Amino acid sequence: MKITFPHMGNAHIAIKALLAGLKLEVIPPPPITKRTMELGIKHSPEFACLPLKISVGSFIEALEQGADTVLMAGGWGPCRFGYYAQVERDILKDLGYSFRMVVLEAPDFKLSELLNQIKDLSQKVTTLEAVQATRFAWFKLNAVDRLEFCLAKMLPRVINKEEVLAIYRQALQEIDQVTTRPQVNQVTNKSTAEMEQLQQHDQPLLRLGLVGEIYTILEPACNYDIAEQLGRMNVEVYRSVYISDWVNDHLLGGLVKPSNRREILTSSRPYLNYFVGGHGRETVGNAVKLARQHYDGIIQIGPLTCMPEIVAQSVLGEVGEKEGIPVMTMYFDEHAGATGIQTRLEAFVDMLQRRKKSNQVWEQGEQLNAHVPGC
Ligand code: SF4
Repeated sequence: MKITFPHMGNAHIAIKALLAGLKLEVIPPPPITKRTMELGIKHSPEFACLPLKISVGSFIEALEQGADTVLMAGGWGPCRFGYYAQVERDILKDLGYSFRMVVLEAPDFKLSELLNQIKDLSQKVTTLEAVQATRFAWFKLNAVDRLEFCLAKMLPRVINKEEVLAIYRQALQEIDQVTTRPQVNQVTNKSTAEMEQLQQHDQPLLRLGLVGEIYTILEPACNYDIAEQLGRMNVEVYRSVYISDWVNDHLLGGLVKPSNRREILTSSRPYLNYFVGGHGRETVGNAVKLARQHYDGIIQIGPLTCMPEIVAQSVLGEVGEKEGIPVMTMYFDEHAGATGIQTRLEAFVDMLQRRKKSNQVWEQGEQLNAHVPGC
């Protein structure tokens, strides 16, 4: 069996470790390129949301490299995600590819059910080995998130942006390659320390919250890497979704590490009181929470036609007014252009800077810069 899976940010590092630990031959999805996008767009329905198109392109490239099994997540709820696996399978079969699709359904917060599904992927390992593989993948997932968090903190602060990005990229490569927990720890500690030691400027920073649909937030190719673009403008970006938090909240019942999900859902009231699919309610809750933490602005992102984010957007205007925070929404599809996106980001940042100056709150911003928690 040669197995592949969807590309989503840096999650491939942990998923690859999990599947390798199950003694499966892994064909990791290649990085998303222009060709990936073109393949997905060509073969998917025009009205499908961008993550589906990217996944189709990514699966085609992995199948071309010899994959014969595709691992995909299932889902339920009011949005289209529950149909993704079936639609993708039909598209790829119609194109003539011969493969097996394995769909991992949401385990309804039952750890044993998740482990059973993982164990069922491979007949070559014992239950104990499957547990060990899962634990090691979880360990790598957290290490990657720690690096991403550190980059978000340091990129706007350091003078030489290329240096911090180079350390980050090198660290990701090393974490992907190492095979033991001490090695993962060693790479993460060394790289975060190196990032923190780089020379920093003393300019005040803007603090901005990035909320929205999970795939668009986690996959830079889907959002034109707006977190990096903002970091280069000396804007500190608080990302509302990290993949380890999502796994903890949605697959592990919030049992493995502290969870702020309840707080986020509580914050969404009274603006949005019920589940609308995807991350719609979390988008609203995070926006409220960040406004009350005196962030300077919120950017909501999602794929064009994403139903949960459209619902969230419809109440974010009221959130912005009542909580006193500027909110900008950006949708992405294959027609988005890098220059247009950069122009919108620059205009929003410029407006936030003027607003902050006119409110005379730079002093508070400077204090915030001085008390930065470690990576
Ligand atoms: S959450 Fe949005 S992008 Fe994701 S499947 Fe649902 S509608 Fe599509």
